[in-house]
Amino acid sequence: MASDQEIDLLVFGGGITGAGIARDAALRGLSIALVESHDFASGTSHLTSKVVHGGLRYLEHGHIKPVVDALIERYRLLEHLAPNLIRPLQFVLPFENNEFVKWLYTLTGLHLYGFPEWYRCGRASGPRLGVRLTRDYPLMRPYPFAVTFWDAQTNDARLVLSTLRTAEASGAMLQNYTSIREAVYDNHRWHLTVCSERDGQTHKFRARAVVNATGPWCPQTAALLGVKYVSLTWLKGSHMMLPRPARFGEDAIVMRSVRDNRPLWVIPWHHRLIVGTTESNHTGDLRDVRPTADEVDDLFESFRRAFPKAGFSRGDICGAYAGVRPIVPQGVESANQLSREHRIDVDADRRLVTVMGGKLTTFRMMAEQSVDEVERLLHRSPPIRAVRRRLREQRLWPGLSRDEGRQLRANLARIYDALPHRDRLVKHLVLSYGWEASGILEEIARQPSLGVPLTQTVPYTVAELGYLARTEKPLRLLDLVKRRTSLYFLADDCCACMLPRIAEHVGRSLGWDRERRARELEHVAAEFAADLACCRPSTAAPALLDRQSVVA
Ligand SMILES: Cc1cc2nc3c(=O)[nH]c(=O)nc-3n(C[C@H](O)[C@H](O)[C@H](O)COP(=O)(O)OP(=O)(O)OC[C@H]3O[C@@H](n4cnc5c(N)ncnc54)[C@H](O)[C@@H]3O)c2cc1C
Repeated sequence: MASDQEIDLLVFGGGITGAGIARDAALRGLSIALVESHDFASGTSHLTSKVVHGGLRYLEHGHIKPVVDALIERYRLLEHLAPNLIRPLQFVLPFENNEFVKWLYTLTGLHLYGFPEWYRCGRASGPRLGVRLTRDYPLMRPYPFAVTFWDAQTNDARLVLSTLRTAEASGAMLQNYTSIREAVYDNHRWHLTVCSERDGQTHKFRARAVVNATGPWCPQTAALLGVKYVSLTWLKGSHMMLPRPARFGEDAIVMRSVRDNRPLWVIPWHHRLIVGTTESNHTGDLRDVRPTADEVDDLFESFRRAFPKAGFSRGDICGAYAGVRPIVPQGVESANQLSREHRIDVDADRRLVTVMGGKLTTFRMMAEQSVDEVERLLHRSPPIRAVRRRLREQRLWPGLSRDEGRQLRANLARIYDALPHRDRLVKHLVLSYGWEASGILEEIARQPSLGVPLTQTVPYTVAELGYLARTEKPLRLLDLVKRRTSLYFLADDCCACMLPRIAEHVGRSLGWDRERRARELEHVAAEFAADLACCRPSTAAPALLDRQSVVA
C-alpha cells in the first residue's frame, strides 16, 4: 500500500462481511483497501456450521423476509457465484410421536421453503415416514416421521478467501495483520495511520469513506475510529467433531438437545461429522473463544441419544471449535428467537458505514446494500440495472464455469497422467484454484514427494500449501492449516506427523529459520490442545511438539 495515497473506501475487517464489501466495491470501480487486524477469516467466518441456508426454523418465529432473502442468496451462490465451493445438502428433521401437529405445520412451511429449490433444480422437500427413515438412516434411533429439505454446504474460510481474491483481481488492496494506529476525520476525509505486523512499517493514507465490518469487534473498532457505538451482546456457538461412520450417509440430520430441546445439527463434512450449535451469551475475550466441557457434554449426549447405534465414546471426539456472533439487542428472551438479520448503520457526518450481524449465506446482499450506502455518501450514482445484475452473478475467483472446469480437469489429467491419486488431486486443485492448478501439478511432477495426500479425503499436499504460502498472504503456520486449508479440522491430530515437513517447505518462501519454524509448530499445537481441552481433558498438545527434532 503506497503511503499517503487517497482512496475512495477503506474497509476494516477481513471476514466474510468485509470481503464481500471489498468485492462489490472493487467491481463497481471504487478505489478500495481492506485492512484486517489478524488473519483474513480469523474471526467468526471460519468457525461456522458451514451451511448455506435460508433458515427454516426462523419461519416458525415469523421472520419471513430474511428467510426469503437468504433463499435467493443461497441460489445465487450455488448457481452463479461459487458452484465450485458450495454443494447442495439434504437435511432430515425428525419428529416424535407426540409432535404430529408440529410435523404437519412444518410440512406446510416447507411449501414456501422448498419450492424455489424444487422449481429451479428439481430437488424436492417433503415428508419421510418411519420405515424408510430407519432404512435410510440406520444409525439413528427410530422416529415415526420426519421432513426432508435442501440447503447447501460450503467451506467458510475458502469462501472468504475466494471473495477476497476476486476483490484483489479487480484492484482492491488487501492487508492482513495490520492495525489502526490513528484515525481522524477532517475536511470530508478520513486520515488514517495503520501499522503492519509483518514489518512494523506504518502507512498513512486518506479515505473518502470508511466501512466498519469487524463483526463482533464493531464496538472496539468504533472506539479506535473515535466514534460511539451501541452496546452489543455476543452469542457464542460451539461445535464438536466426530469421525463419520460409513453408515451415516450423505444427509445432515437435525436432532434435539438433551438439555433444552433446542435443534442441533449433525452435518457430514468430508470424513467428519460436525455437531452443533450450542448457544450461550459470551462475555470473555473475543480472541479466545473455546467450547466448554459443559457445551461438549450437551452436544455429545444429544448425539448419543439420537444415534445410539454409532457407538461413540468421548475419546472419539476429534475436534471442537466455537465462534461468536454480535447481536443487536432485540427485546426477545430466547437466543433461538433472535433474528440473524444484519444491520447497516450510516454516519453521514463522518462518512462511516457500520455493518453487523447477518449470515455467511447473505454476505453478498449485505455487501451490495453497504456499498450502495457508500456510493450515496460519495455522491456517486448507483449502478444501472444491467450492471447490478452482473455484479450479483459475477463468479468468485477462480471464476471458471462448470464447462471450463471440466475441460481444464480433462486436460490436466491427460498431461499429468502418471501422477498417483491423479483424478482426486486434479479435481481438488481445479475446483479450488482454477487455472493455477497447473503450476501446483507441475511442481508435484518435478518432485513427487510434495504430492503425497496429507488426509484421507481431501488431497491436500505440501505442494499446495507451498502455493498458498506464496499467494494468499499467510503470516503463521496456523493461517495455512486452519484457514487456507482445513487440515486443522480434517487431519488426525492436526496432521501432527506432517507439520514439521510442511513448516520446512512453506518456511522457505516465508523466510522462516529453524527457531521460527519451531515457534510456529508450538503455536499450532497449543491452539489445537486448547480447542480440544474441553473434550479430552487429558489430551496434551499433540506430538508435533517435539521441538528438539525441529530445532536440531
Ligand atoms: C457458531 C456460529 C455458527 C454459524 N454458522 C453459520 C452457518 O452455518 N451459515 C451461515 O450462513 N452463517 C453462520 N453463522 C453466521 C456467520 O458466521 C457470521 O454472520 C459471519 O461469519 C460474520 O462475518 P463478519 O465478517 O461480520 O465477522 P468476522 O468473521 O468475525 O470478521 C470480523 C473480522 O474483523 C477483524 N477485526 C477486528 N477488529 C479489527 C480492526 N480494528 N481492524 C481490522 N480488522 C479487525 C477480525 O479479526 C475478523 O477477522 C454462524 C455464526 C456462529 C457464531
